[in-house]
Amino acid sequence: MISNITYMSGVKSLKEIDVTGQRVLIRVDFNVPMDAQLNISDDSRIRAALPTINYCIDHNACSITLVSHLGNPKGDYDPRFSLKHIQKRLERLLEKRVEFVEDFEASKAEIASCSLERVFLLENIRFYEGEKKNDPELSRKLGEICDVYVNDAFGTSHRKHASTYGITDYVDTCVAGFLMMKEIAAFNKALEKPMHPIALVVGGAKISSKITLLSAVMPKIDKLIIGGAMSNTFLRALGYDMQASLYEDAFVETAKQVLEDATLHKVKIYLPVDVVITNSVDHPVDVKVVPAQDVLEGFQAVDIGPATVKLFSEAIELSNTIIWNGPMGIYEIEKFSKGTYKIASAIGDCYAYTIVGGGDTADAVEKAGEKENFSFISTGGGASLELLEGKILPGFECLDRLEA
Ligand code: ADP
Ligand code: MG
Repeated sequence: MISNITYMSGVKSLKEIDVTGQRVLIRVDFNVPMDAQLNISDDSRIRAALPTINYCIDHNACSITLVSHLGNPKGDYDPRFSLKHIQKRLERLLEKRVEFVEDFEASKAEIASCSLERVFLLENIRFYEGEKKNDPELSRKLGEICDVYVNDAFGTSHRKHASTYGITDYVDTCVAGFLMMKEIAAFNKALEKPMHPIALVVGGAKISSKITLLSAVMPKIDKLIIGGAMSNTFLRALGYDMQASLYEDAFVETAKQVLEDATLHKVKIYLPVDVVITNSVDHPVDVKVVPAQDVLEGFQAVDIGPATVKLFSEAIELSNTIIWNGPMGIYEIEKFSKGTYKIASAIGDCYAYTIVGGGDTADAVEKAGEKENFSFISTGGGASLELLEGKILPGFECLDRLEA
């Protein structure tokens, strides 16, 4: 039986087709982390899409339409999530004019015309309610503005959305971009014949979307190290009062199940033994380190403490494959960044094969100055966890395949 990764490696890539004179639509992942003032804090995901975009320009595609989401807007238009914030950076990186398209349906004729070599950037595709529903109407409309579809959005390839999946029903030629191929090759190296012990380090704030994956990956891993807001839900499951900490009540039972599954599969679990707490994230004056059981009333856990850093680092050091997704604390705020940066160094110092995934985690690794010390920086967080689980990601499944 071939593995999910070997199967996915068999998709047709952009290199295999001729884009000359074609109207190419590229699903990119420009979902970059931004600060409160909407400055891009890490443009790695934009840079990661450049080889594919440049290849299409170099091979005389007649128009290139870039489609992406940014954040998770609730409902329709919300200026905070506009891709307009990305346009300038993209123009600078491509050294080429990029035309921003607010409403692709209204501009359909212009995008679909093939008179000039132009690059269009569509507004956040998640402003359309059909995107996350994989709506055939939206998929068809996107299909109508191109001859060739290229998926290069690895970070969203675990989602069955109109622009990552449904569109392929309406376009004859559907291939993978270079980032997708590069990512799958790196995971192939890590997971095809992995070196044990394998440690999965998880953290971050997307608790509901990631916690359910943890039970599924249990048969594949030897150690599960949990920090960040994710660990608050687990500490709550142990019965600790987490006070004002970010955790999800609705997933406390899931956390208990994960702990049981770990025992079943003989996976070693590492949870914070101490945490950094504050009573105000915005004005962090009162900051303390306490045992995980002793979060003070009105305070919240915002980082792992020094004893936890030591514990996690030792568990990491004894691993041969390490996959990390999710920061250990609110690393964007200096006072709460120590745990994340120290774990970045601990993983970076290892002789293991090390993969980090996720927009924020990759940003944290870069800020920690550890980028060069990792074997591979993936643009996908959730996608990498689903790969580890053994799934064929929908974004690959729907593409054309190389002939046998
Ligand atoms: P990634 O983008 O790498 O997949 P997530 O988006 O899941 O990671 O999580 C990153 C976010 O988690 C960061 O913005 C960070 O501030 C937040 N975070 C981590 N730990 C905590 C915590 N203890 N309390 C609140 N937020 C946290
Ligand atoms: Mg994130």
